[in-house]
Amino acid sequence: MNSSDRKTKAYHVLLMKHKPEALVIGAGPAGSYAALNLAKLGVPTTVFEEHPEIGVPSHCAGHLSIRSLGKMGLYPLPYHIVENEFSKANFYSPTGFRFSVHLKQPVTCTVNRTLFDKFLAEKAEAAGARFLLNTRVKSLILDEGFVRGVRIKEDEETREIFSKTVVDAEGISSRVLRETSLSTLKTSSVVYGVEADAENVRNVEHDAVEVFLGKAYASGFYGWLIPRRDGTAKVGLATTGNPKESFQKLKDKHPVASEQLSTAKITNLSFHPISLGGPISQTYTNGFLAVGDAASQVKPTTGGGVVFGMTCAKIAAEIVYNAIQKNDLSENFLRLYQKRCEEIWSFDVKVMLRIRKTLNTISDKKIEKAMRFCSRIGLDKTLGNIEEIDFQGQTFLKVLKKPAIVAVFAYFVLLYLSANP
Ligand SMILES: Cc1cc2nc3c(=O)[nH]c(=O)nc-3n(C[C@H](O)[C@H](O)[C@H](O)COP(=O)(O)OP(=O)(O)OC[C@H]3O[C@@H](n4cnc5c(N)ncnc54)[C@H](O)[C@@H]3O)c2cc1C
Repeated sequence: MNSSDRKTKAYHVLLMKHKPEALVIGAGPAGSYAALNLAKLGVPTTVFEEHPEIGVPSHCAGHLSIRSLGKMGLYPLPYHIVENEFSKANFYSPTGFRFSVHLKQPVTCTVNRTLFDKFLAEKAEAAGARFLLNTRVKSLILDEGFVRGVRIKEDEETREIFSKTVVDAEGISSRVLRETSLSTLKTSSVVYGVEADAENVRNVEHDAVEVFLGKAYASGFYGWLIPRRDGTAKVGLATTGNPKESFQKLKDKHPVASEQLSTAKITNLSFHPISLGGPISQTYTNGFLAVGDAASQVKPTTGGGVVFGMTCAKIAAEIVYNAIQKNDLSENFLRLYQKRCEEIWSFDVKVMLRIRKTLNTISDKKIEKAMRFCSRIGLDKTLGNIEEIDFQGQTFLKVLKKPAIVAVFAYFVLLYLSANP
């Protein structure tokens, strides 16, 4: 046993003697951000992460809104975490027609997700949260309809850790959620993502994100190419079909992507699902809250889950703190968590679900027509002049006066530029 194993074991013994008030399952952005906010409020918090290293493996493009990060007090991030910033996005139809929006200043960035996750965990640890790596939560401790803690696996032994609340931040797998009475995410709304690194890409603008639309290459979602400052790029897509085959097709056949990737060396391919069905119908029960991908807190249009999950995780932390103060961890009190999340997201999620549905049903021909029309009416210039692109469903209402498909495309572009993917 090495010294870090000894430290971990000693801490497990300590844990059993001194009951933490909040246990967080998973050290992804939602889990660590919940832990950071709980610790800042003085709630003794322990985070369990099944992997030996935070942020590894990574399966995310890390494309985030600068403004949203700023609102959370997280931007500017340390330079080494931010791989690039973007003031431009190029959207391509399957025939290669390009619709570009160029803004005056960078609105999105791409972060190294491993470093970003570590950064959040370090902040949480500095605020007082404890992290136990290499520690998988096996199951929940349930008693009289209340979640009372978790069972962890350690050295082939199972240990029980009791606490006042459990925050489930397991990610899309959400295994513990199935032990509660809560319904899990809609599997029919899941798309399958692939993300990879590309060296030697060609004809790529350093300040522009490339977005490849159309069923022909990425049915039910889209493909992307995100250049890094160092000349490499992140490339990927998500689809309702086979992600490996779709990726190969994008790389070999797409009129623009195949050219950009013709000399590229593709490495680090990883596969992971994305839930586009909107948040699960109930995200809390007695002594338990689900945050992030575990609660399907992901944008149905663009699949962006980092900011959405973290925003909800902060609310979860505040509600847990209030619940502990009032000594009421019942679902009746914890329902405030969902109420506050819905105040922020509910309208937008409804609009985004409609847009996703429309995008999924329209043909590639129609998408192309809409893009050409948007270009003819100068929508690219209009969007480029928007000083503050905000992530608000209300914005959609303004473009609704246009033909429906044009409005849907325009709003998708807006969402892409404001947050995403
Ligand atoms: C290909 C792809 C590209 C994407 N690109 C973007 C993007 O550009 N921008 C964006 O905003 N979103 C993107 N997303 C979505 C984003 O990755 C997720 O929404 C985000 O990672 C969710 O964070 P989370 O903390 O909820 O879960 P996760 O990041 O999945 O973290 C969950 C953590 O819990 C741990 N864990 C799980 N079970 C247990 C257990 N039982 N015990 C202990 N630990 C456990 C896991 O090891 C993991 O560390 C992308 C997704 C995919 C698949």
